[in-house]
Amino acid sequence: MGSEIKEFCGLFGVYGVAEAAPLIYQGLFALQHRGQEGAGIVVSNGEKIKSVKGLGLVGEVFSKQPICDLSGKIGIGHVRYSTTGSTRIQNVQPLVAECADGIWAIAHNGNLVNATMLRRMYQESGSIFQTSTDSEVLVHILADPMFRNRPRRVERALGELKGAFSFLLMTKDSIMAARDPLGFRPLSIGKLGEAFIFTSETCALPLIGAAYIRDVLPGELVTVTASGLTSSMFCEKRDHYGQCIFEHIYFAHPDSHVFGKNVHEVRMAYGRRLAQEHPVDADMVIPIPDSGNSAALGYSRASGIPLDFGFIRNHYVGRTFIMPEDKQRKYSADMKLAVLPDVINGKRVIAVDDSIVRGNTMAKRIKMLREAGAKEVHVRISCPPVKNPCFYGIDFPTSEELVASSRTVEEIRQLMGADSLGYVSLEGILSPFDNPQDFCTACFSGAYPAAIESFEGKKALEKHS
Ligand code: SF4
Repeated sequence: MGSEIKEFCGLFGVYGVAEAAPLIYQGLFALQHRGQEGAGIVVSNGEKIKSVKGLGLVGEVFSKQPICDLSGKIGIGHVRYSTTGSTRIQNVQPLVAECADGIWAIAHNGNLVNATMLRRMYQESGSIFQTSTDSEVLVHILADPMFRNRPRRVERALGELKGAFSFLLMTKDSIMAARDPLGFRPLSIGKLGEAFIFTSETCALPLIGAAYIRDVLPGELVTVTASGLTSSMFCEKRDHYGQCIFEHIYFAHPDSHVFGKNVHEVRMAYGRRLAQEHPVDADMVIPIPDSGNSAALGYSRASGIPLDFGFIRNHYVGRTFIMPEDKQRKYSADMKLAVLPDVINGKRVIAVDDSIVRGNTMAKRIKMLREAGAKEVHVRISCPPVKNPCFYGIDFPTSEELVASSRTVEEIRQLMGADSLGYVSLEGILSPFDNPQDFCTACFSGAYPAAIESFEGKKALEKHS
């Protein structure tokens, strides 16, 4: 289930309001589900760049260090979970660096698969890295005279990167937004009056009264200055993209539109598909909250089996998968859900969740349902078995730890202690989309859409921390 997966980051940028920082603060709140380990806001008043960053949730970081000093019309913000680099303040983004031609701020969502190679190259030529993140290599490329003094500097710098990236870059008088050529991670553009907004997910736009305009395209660099918005491509157009299907399965907020579709609607479709592919006679459908909610509703509507709440979530425990420490994750998973014996006792239940990763958490949930008196427990999962690691910004466990990497569905069912177990097929998770070739499904299929430097590369970055 999603609670066993670690990712990732959220980006939010504003150009052209009276005060950018309060809007970025609100935007980061809406993106909090994308990272709970640290948060930062950097603003420019046209002359100076100031930043506030810290470890923890958005509310915690900015209550300890108020944003009232951050005055300026331009700004970018970031919520972080570390996919590379450890939990320390230096790694909290946006990163701010002074280059020969001015200050740059950088916020990144994704994972650069050639970061280790680039880092070694720059270190060998004398560069000193301040963080253990993969994102910092872009700062060094931008500062490199080979790039700095040539036209299309940012496009050329982005062209050096491989892997998954959505970036927000800021100078004292501009904001740039870019997505990698395969478009792994989402990044959208909104407008608030004359101001431009950039956000990892569209759910942040209505919160500040902004309207959605369009997505940043894969391979596109969008630049906003006092003259308005301009766009350029930094790579050849691809035949197909590698948009992360897991954004729809689990990561993104249900009220977001990601890669052109509403997340809740897609998850409902997965639930309907599950009901077609794995029907079972039962008394009720229960979601594993919150990640199973929409798919459970879809399953219930398609099957005609009533939906009920067998679990109640404690909302004061964070999303466990983005807590970096294993112990903290286990502790939070235990605290997170309470079972409702009055609903469950004597019933045949269908428990719907988004995914099974290690399998420990699902086994625990099934045990809870049995202890609450469930007569039968049928588990339905709104994605295929997760068999392979992700190199594009999602911190799945290693292959050995993935319960499906070396087991059949029947073996997993036995291990979990479920009466039956059904996953949506690969075809099923792509079925809501007209362009299935534009999605990455590598963690299920093993078909990685972008070359991987090596898994060791990802680990090697940790050694710098
Ligand atoms: S491997 Fe899986 S989690 Fe990673 S980008 Fe591809 S679909 Fe997303």
